[in-house]
Amino acid sequence: MDCKKFERWNLVLKENLNKIISKELNYQNAKSLFAEIVMAKKNNELGELCFECETCLDFNYYFSMLDKYVKKEYDEKELKIRIYEYHKLEVYGKYSNVLKMPNITEEDFKIEGEFDNSKLIVYFDMNVVNQYIDDKEFKELVFSSKNRLAYAYSPSHMEEISRMNSKHRVEYIVKLTNNLVMLPRGENIIKVYENPEKSLERIAKIPEFNNAVEQVRLAKNQEAEVYFPEFREQKHTRRVNNENVFSFYESEFNKIFMRQGRTYKISELRKGVKLSERDDIIECLYGAMDILSFWRDKGERKIKSGVYDIEHLKYGSWSNIFVTIDGSLANRATEIFQLINISVDVMRIEDFKKYLIEKINI
Ligand SMILES: [Zn+2]
Repeated sequence: MDCKKFERWNLVLKENLNKIISKELNYQNAKSLFAEIVMAKKNNELGELCFECETCLDFNYYFSMLDKYVKKEYDEKELKIRIYEYHKLEVYGKYSNVLKMPNITEEDFKIEGEFDNSKLIVYFDMNVVNQYIDDKEFKELVFSSKNRLAYAYSPSHMEEISRMNSKHRVEYIVKLTNNLVMLPRGENIIKVYENPEKSLERIAKIPEFNNAVEQVRLAKNQEAEVYFPEFREQKHTRRVNNENVFSFYESEFNKIFMRQGRTYKISELRKGVKLSERDDIIECLYGAMDILSFWRDKGERKIKSGVYDIEHLKYGSWSNIFVTIDGSLANRATEIFQLINISVDVMRIEDFKKYLIEKINI
């Protein structure tokens, strides 16, 4: 087979299709490129497509896109949507196996006891945990509060630690939480004691999982630019953070839910949510905020860490006090918890320190 020969053409096609979309390549030049490829095909420079390998399928798809553009069946906007959807399917296809294979059984857990609900639970996102590790004063503040507050970690902390390859943080998780952890059990969360090393062992069993979640989220994140370009315009982004977001953009949220393949309505969510849908709703709301540019994460690195923000938000929703350094996350969390009637106090770290000094450690 001649599959290899198409690799170079794939690069050329991808690059030029993107240029067509961004209007850096005009119609005449697109037509010339098309003619060039047709010619190469005719002269047998390309050979046969196998229609099985990724390279050949990509070539077939991208070439047909160029064909449709040259024949004026698709304009730039349609091209953008088609290519995005193709890319998204590719990413989903590539990672769907990984996302579905949690090969974890009861034997992988070693639960040492249940939380007795005698104290309020505080949940730190990873940045706050890092602050706790580095800041002696904060560590002491937290330590003194432990007769009245309990601190919990979640598998998400351990996933971040595993991703950052920073196992030295585990001992601090133990010090901070005394092994109190929130673990998913069916639709519920259980609050129990387990050494975080056990979490790490489970994560090591599915090493590709985090990367898969990140890749899917990156693909999803481009959705906004493809389908809702108006929410990236300055006249929108300048004011979106100042509004009462769910009231002011109610119909936009509902429209975005439809795109996400959901039938949620803001007015319905206000009445409360089913346990079985709770995590999904938090995720959809967070995703919709991305699309709407509401306190939006910028840059690929931030978008990736947003994967963990969502997970921390889900676990944090089972705590009494959710603490973060990230102002954007705090604003989003406050709005989301309020909308779906979850009574968690969202605090920025400075507010939390103040709360400890003024209300707890007295
Ligand atoms: Zn092939």
